[in-house]
Amino acid sequence: MRNLITVFGSINADLMLRCAALPAAGETVLATHSAVAAGGKGGNQAFAAAANGAAVAMVGAVGNDALADAALAGLRARCVDLSAVKTVVACTGVASVAVNAAGENQIIVAIGANAHVLASDLSDELLAKTTVFVAQMELRSAEVFKAIARAKSSGAKTLLNNAPAGLVPLEVLALVDVLVVNEGELRQTCEHLGLAPNTPLQTLAQLTGGTVVVTLGERGAMAATGKEVFQAVALPVQVLDTTGAGDAFCGAFAVAMRNNLPLEQALMSANAAGAQACTVPGAQAF
Ligand code: ADP
Repeated sequence: MRNLITVFGSINADLMLRCAALPAAGETVLATHSAVAAGGKGGNQAFAAAANGAAVAMVGAVGNDALADAALAGLRARCVDLSAVKTVVACTGVASVAVNAAGENQIIVAIGANAHVLASDLSDELLAKTTVFVAQMELRSAEVFKAIARAKSSGAKTLLNNAPAGLVPLEVLALVDVLVVNEGELRQTCEHLGLAPNTPLQTLAQLTGGTVVVTLGERGAMAATGKEVFQAVALPVQVLDTTGAGDAFCGAFAVAMRNNLPLEQALMSANAAGAQACTVPGAQAF
């Protein structure tokens, strides 16, 4: 029986460092707070889908190093099926995130093991159990596109979060049932397709033939098909940390797709998950 949400995506360990001032080249500063957190858009979205009650399988890779455990801790805690996460001879994907007292950040990302993930890591057996397939753009794009094509032809529904915004050809977008982007990614997606940056969401949806969803931060989110447009106003929450809000949104949207919710309800449910994620630190709080 098909009931799984399968996430094909990046898995990282995030090294979080708070300091009074960010270091200049050649300078060493002391951190006032440090933590290692599980991250990567793929891992975060799998975590969020599982947190919303779905059975989730992750397809990805970690390195044969000590950071692998930290990168997978959240997914293990949420009982995500990790049997399609391979260990490769490389470093686990890592993001070093330094934040100063003014909230400005300096981020260095090493994709490491994530570069080794292949569309063929998604087995036919797993695809046969997958009802919603979710991908982002933190893996090699050619592999992401091949995996989307396989998922679609297996009969799964597909969700692509075009983040960070990559060059996704129209032939691939035509295989995507739900495209999720934030405002900047929407502009880039339009630009890549040769469309004006302010192209209406509905026009983009008509072109792709699917649903297009844009997240609007503190203004909520909007969804369009070729025929309809829905708007969800952001829920009023005490914002602590917006890290992972977009990932929580995507994970919850995938669960709504699995549950066959109408688009307007799916949008509201994802919008609520995005708001909730702003009230807790990091992207995989458990
Ligand atoms: P990203 O983090 O990918 O840039 P957004 O900032 O658009 O994504 O946020 C994703 C979603 O999280 C929004 O659509 C909304 O549902 C929720 N969200 C983000 N910021 C807030 C906020 N300040 N108040 C309430 N909800 C928010």
